[in-house]
Amino acid sequence: MTHHTLDYARRIREQGYRLTPQRELILDAVCEGGGHTTIDEIYGRLQKKAPAISLATLYRTLDFFCELHLVVSAEIDGQTVYEIAGLTPHHHLICRECGASIHIDHELVQELFDKFQAEYGYTIDMDHMAFTGLCPACRAKAGAGE
Ligand SMILES: [Zn+2]
Ligand SMILES: [Zn+2]
Repeated sequence: MTHHTLDYARRIREQGYRLTPQRELILDAVCEGGGHTTIDEIYGRLQKKAPAISLATLYRTLDFFCELHLVVSAEIDGQTVYEIAGLTPHHHLICRECGASIHIDHELVQELFDKFQAEYGYTIDMDHMAFTGLCPACRAKAGAGE
């Protein structure tokens, strides 16, 4: 899934902005990560194609994309990772031992959000969460299986 197949040019236009060549280069560099990618990795890829783009501009542009919900970020292991948002929200289960990561559907999490709303009156709007724990392989290794 890339920003081309998702027609980000149109989605940015619909929100009243333009996909400038600079913004497109930055989206490309996020896409090339093929999933979660750190700002250092994005910056490294960007340097090869557009060395004139500064780290400050990259931060600003990523914030801009996050505000438009075109890019999502998450804190994983003390690092911020970025990723192309896709059409529907998704979340992650992440193994704190080996780093294995799987996608989980938003529907599962929405049930929990609905409960929060019913119980506490809060509407939750998190669209990209990382749940850390132990994956099945690491659990077996640790002898923590049942
Ligand atoms: Zn993600
Ligand atoms: Zn693991």
